[in-house]
Amino acid sequence: MSNQYREVLKIIKPQPVIEGAGVRLKRSIATATLDHLDPFLLFDHFGSRNPDDYLKGFPMHPHRGIETVTYMIEGEVDHKDSMGNAGSISGGDVQWMTSGGGIMHEEMPQPCQREMVGFQLWVNLPASLKMTRPRYQNIASNRIPEINREDGVKIRVISGEVDGIRGPVTDIFADPTYLDVSIPARGSFSYPLEPGHTAFAYVFEGEGVFGVGSRLKDEWVTHPRLVVLGDTGFFEARGTETYTRFLLIAGKPLKEPIARYGPFVMNTQAEIQQALKDLKNGTFVQN
Ligand code: MN
Repeated sequence: MSNQYREVLKIIKPQPVIEGAGVRLKRSIATATLDHLDPFLLFDHFGSRNPDDYLKGFPMHPHRGIETVTYMIEGEVDHKDSMGNAGSISGGDVQWMTSGGGIMHEEMPQPCQREMVGFQLWVNLPASLKMTRPRYQNIASNRIPEINREDGVKIRVISGEVDGIRGPVTDIFADPTYLDVSIPARGSFSYPLEPGHTAFAYVFEGEGVFGVGSRLKDEWVTHPRLVVLGDTGFFEARGTETYTRFLLIAGKPLKEPIARYGPFVMNTQAEIQQALKDLKNGTFVQN
């Protein structure tokens, strides 16, 4: 009867970092505290009312061996890449970008009247797909199903399935779940995450109770925090006297060696050296 519900293993306080050409972020995966959470390699939360915190953006830079997933809540990020894609990611949109063997892209946040809020997640690729052709899925907000339950719980389904409704991001090796969940005061939400899948919740508004039902004690979590969950059992969370909103993210662990250097994540140091060599020789980008 153990592990019927997902336990809270750790609660991570995001740490401030400066990334790109000078963007202030809150990072909770890819830090000294939490290097990775297989298959997830990085998790950043950008949220600011001050455009100086983000306008310098992320000018043209490479990626190899991973997927970068950008989900915007509020605000807008212009992007273009070496595959010829260009456009903007605005509030409610998702970009799921598979770098494969090589992509160059830029990601430039635009001035926002209100608070700019968004997330970037890096998902690892298995050795067999690290050098695959780049792939790009740009999902406009109106293609993301939003479930409004009678009890007031609201779920945007980016990837995975809730109440028989599938999210638009499919055919990803990690078989990810990516939900944006809002629970009203005193409401609750439970979800049958795939057994064995690594899972975390990222609380970015309000506060909720996580690890409900598990044999370890449940935890009252106030935003912003990343909640690392156990790998078996139901996920269950409750609202407190106030509302909470969080991302629920899960995926199949790869259990492969990780060699990482900035925007490249491979299996060996030799492959990292090759990426740097390809970049220097102009043979990096795959088409
Ligand atoms: Mn990037």
